[in-house]
Amino acid sequence: MHTRFPPEPNGYLHIGHAKSICLNFGIARSNNGLCNLRFDDTNPSKEDLEYVESIQEDIRWLGFDWEDRIYYASDYFEQLYEFGQQLIKSGKAYVCDLNAQEIREYRGTLTEPGKDSPYRNRTREENLELFAKMRAGEFPDGTRVLRAKIDMSSPNLNMRDPVLYRILRASHHRTGDKWCIYPMYDFAHPLSDAIEGITHSICTLEFEDHRPLYDWVVENVGFKSPPKQMEFARLNLSRTVMSKRKLRELVEKGHVGGWDDPRMPTVSGLRRRGYTPESIRDFCERIGVARSNSVVDISLLEHCVREDLNKKAPRVMAVLKPLRVIIDNYPKGLEEELVAENNPENPEMGERKLLFSRELFIEQDDFMLEPPKKFFRLAPGREVRLKNAYIIKCESVVTDEKTGEVLEVHCTYDPQTKSGCDNSGRKVKGTLHWVSAQNAIQAEVRLYDYLFLEEGAAEEPGGQNELESRLNPQSLTVLGNCMVEPSLKEAEKGKKYQFMRQGYFVVDPDSKGDVLVFNRIVSLRDTWAKVKDKDKEKKN
Ligand code: ATP
Ligand code: MG
Repeated sequence: MHTRFPPEPNGYLHIGHAKSICLNFGIARSNNGLCNLRFDDTNPSKEDLEYVESIQEDIRWLGFDWEDRIYYASDYFEQLYEFGQQLIKSGKAYVCDLNAQEIREYRGTLTEPGKDSPYRNRTREENLELFAKMRAGEFPDGTRVLRAKIDMSSPNLNMRDPVLYRILRASHHRTGDKWCIYPMYDFAHPLSDAIEGITHSICTLEFEDHRPLYDWVVENVGFKSPPKQMEFARLNLSRTVMSKRKLRELVEKGHVGGWDDPRMPTVSGLRRRGYTPESIRDFCERIGVARSNSVVDISLLEHCVREDLNKKAPRVMAVLKPLRVIIDNYPKGLEEELVAENNPENPEMGERKLLFSRELFIEQDDFMLEPPKKFFRLAPGREVRLKNAYIIKCESVVTDEKTGEVLEVHCTYDPQTKSGCDNSGRKVKGTLHWVSAQNAIQAEVRLYDYLFLEEGAAEEPGGQNELESRLNPQSLTVLGNCMVEPSLKEAEKGKKYQFMRQGYFVVDPDSKGDVLVFNRIVSLRDTWAKVKDKDKEKKN
């Protein structure tokens, strides 16, 4: 079994491509076969070396290896030209002088057959000479094409004498200005597969109608054991656009910071967002391979990264919106070492030291002056436990005279309630995360929401403005004054953590010197698990 992943280098890879990569490399791997990487680079005006490089980086990062089998359709240009000559010689191709508009008119419609081109019956000699002149640059762009001679009344429009070669003066990122004619995808793609000895040409469903042409091309050029094209449904994700054209538009119009913006569904965006290759592969496995189109709920992807990070990511404390707490009965200047588990799901990850002191930060949302009944966090007169530390009680509050904003909260602590050696028997309902004010590190945290407002809306047809009017104005929230525990001081870029009660976070490459920047990968709330539980309830 020999497969290939055949990207066109005209954009960055996205999660849909990841599905195709997992499928092609996965099938080869589980059948002791091989999978090639081949760039289908037949459209020079849209392609670029930047994309060639990013695609390789992304596939490797996903965990797949093409070894030395990296190919380019452009490496076959000479061979493809010879195949064109061969089809002419066997009377199966001709040079046609109709322009694009006329070709369309002659093609007919789904209900009406097409008409033969007036140039269809040129002699072999004339065709060979004209094809050579096309290559030699003797005709202007768009004035002539090489067409297959198949059947202008075929019920399949793709079989009505499709164009195989066009004249196009455009510099190619690999062949430069060597060529001024370029093969069409429907000609280059099957032949590239056949040249490489591909056995199974896996592609998305929209190519089903192209399969007869795929087979026609490889058979008429004379391949003895031609590759077999097999189609599967492309991946669509809720609240996500997946068309390269639309993704490029988001980048070019500045709606996102680049192809690797953490809100993008690109592999590089997901990587920067903090997704792991394991979680993406797991996702691709779970969605499986189907032959009918559907939309996968994005919460499944989020579920996969939570599952992967649950055991891997150390749990730390970080306060995103700090509120100062002063423990009035705690000795001034004292710093006490406390012990904290790094991950209760994975004892092998060990423990670390936390520093406790008189002044701390807690989350603004964890305090309310006038709390409703079910609020089990801190409020005047109430008690909570500080994670890994003590039970504290709120005694008084300092507020801003003008705005009423809470500026600091004064508490007392109970020395008998130290975590790990508390035999006071006291119970409180709420446990809060905190950091010591004295040695907390300031950090920037970026919280993300979906790029688009409505469910599935982004993929619907519509004009340019359609895409823009559905952008979520709140897709990025930057919190510039977060406080994280000192163990994060040396956190490397790309390292992932669980911030207790807040979600999973990754150190962004924008971190510089001692300014840490974190991206939130996902919150802890697993809507996918909820959906599944509901389904189970229904079944019961
Ligand atoms: P284009 O319109 O530029 O051709 P494309 O998304 O088809 O865009 P390719 O570079 O041609 O991009 O895709 C490479 C491979 O990835 C193809 O085999 C294609 O079928 C597959 N692929 C692309 N999008 C998806 C998707 N959403 N789900 C699954 N496979 C996909
Ligand atoms: Mg394509």
